[in-house]
Amino acid sequence: MKITQTRDALQNFIGGTWVPSDTDRYEDVPNPATGEVLGRVPLSTREEVDAAVEAARCAFPMWSQTPVVDRTRIMFRFQQLLLEHQHELAERITQENGKNMSEAHAEVMRAIEMVEFAAGMTPLMKGETLPNIARDIDCEMLRFPLGVVAGIAPFNFPLMVPMWMYPIAITAGNTFVLKPSERTPLSTVLAVELLKKAGLPDGVFNVVNGAHEVVNGLLEHPDVQAVSFVGSQPVAEHVYKTASAHGKRVQALAGAKNHHLVMADTDLARAAKTIASSAFGCAGERCMAASVVVVVEDAADTLVQHLLHEANQLKLGNGVEPGVDLGPVIRDSHRQKIHSYIQTGLAEGAALVRDGREDAAQHDKGFFTGPTIFDRAEAQMAIVREEIFAPFLSIVRVHDFEAGLDVIKQSPYGNGACIYTNSGKRARDFAHRVEAGMVGVNVGVPAPMGFFAFTGWKKSFYGDLHANGSDGIEFFTKKKTITTRWFDDGDTNIGSQQTFVK
Ligand code: NAD
Repeated sequence: MKITQTRDALQNFIGGTWVPSDTDRYEDVPNPATGEVLGRVPLSTREEVDAAVEAARCAFPMWSQTPVVDRTRIMFRFQQLLLEHQHELAERITQENGKNMSEAHAEVMRAIEMVEFAAGMTPLMKGETLPNIARDIDCEMLRFPLGVVAGIAPFNFPLMVPMWMYPIAITAGNTFVLKPSERTPLSTVLAVELLKKAGLPDGVFNVVNGAHEVVNGLLEHPDVQAVSFVGSQPVAEHVYKTASAHGKRVQALAGAKNHHLVMADTDLARAAKTIASSAFGCAGERCMAASVVVVVEDAADTLVQHLLHEANQLKLGNGVEPGVDLGPVIRDSHRQKIHSYIQTGLAEGAALVRDGREDAAQHDKGFFTGPTIFDRAEAQMAIVREEIFAPFLSIVRVHDFEAGLDVIKQSPYGNGACIYTNSGKRARDFAHRVEAGMVGVNVGVPAPMGFFAFTGWKKSFYGDLHANGSDGIEFFTKKKTITTRWFDDGDTNIGSQQTFVK
């Protein structure tokens, strides 16, 4: 499949066709590993948001009336096409995001799993019935799509995160407007081509490229019924407040600071390997990445040595090259922010064990920074409290399990938390008591597969119904309850109705 619209300006996908934007504002989309400009993304206007929502609104009656079995068949074809094009998709992800090819392949597979979940929509759309809820009266609940719904995506999983949103939404009968990240908008171009090839009718799925103005246009648009957002905490809060003030259903998945508690009874070398892979994989730009290690004092010195060893093994470079473990971060401005956090950690009095700036100095092109490790950090430090979203690990030493739980409790975020232990009792205690929505027991990235909801807590989530799993179905559908009574001709007995209203 030919990759279209890369070196030139990207277009918007409205009503089944690519349409050039009217804007005069564009941003370059560089390859973070080389700085080479891959394309230019338009910062589209409100009028273009209106046009996309209108296309989706016009397509809704036809699409929502299409039997769910026919909608799912399009998802089956889409899944097949994604599998056939997985290498091309992975290459595109690596080019625009910087993660290495094996991480990009993994992203493609996680995206495909979402399509597989959506392809099973038929039984999930079923309602409920209870006959004879009162004498001769039946009650049934039917599930309907909402109408036009919108998705707003972050840069870090340019293919997968949008697929947390639109496969479920459209297979449930909604029509969709996606605003991809302006930093990684190119994978969506390929996804659109495959959706078209799979036979999705015009107007069901629309894409408006851009930034804040497009987001705000969607949040305030009277014809958008629901907004699914994934991104940083301040923007998630803005999206949640603005969209709900405009009467919309909102799920806003936000930032994170994931704590990993290491007990002395675990295999420390194995735990360090798992933590390093979680912290430094995808350059730490995962909302489920390990970013704080909380370790009991007895195990701390050994664990730190193992973590340093693991970090030193990682090969930095362009993710398309074989053997590269750690790609670049998304932009030079982000790298500068990461490096300013190294200054912050030093100023706060934490002990710098490994300085990623030294690796950065060895790359004259691209936005590289190596793994950074701080030991002897404390719960109230900025390097422990604030999301850095980088290959950056802060280690907090504690006396025991209870003190470890207390450190985690102080975090404003509650996306994921992990424990490394050989004690089932300890693991169970942790899983039940820790204040985070997704828990790993000897697992470094406990991101649930799409069949389960993605259940962040605290400032990692705004809304009621999470993305994916049964929450995803609930979020993108509304229920109607119908109560029915039929009479025989000439039957005048309404006694049962009186029973019913009692
Ligand atoms: P971001 O918040 O900068 O951008 C996300 C989206 O919001 C983009 O489409 C962007 O155009 C838009 N946006 C940005 N600023 C805006 C503003 N002021 N007003 C309106 N719209 C705005 O996030 P990012 O840097 O692209 O992605 C990384 C963040 O996403 C991290 O914080 C990460 O933890 C989070 N994330 C969370 C999850 C999760 O499941 N909780 C998953 C992936 C990423």
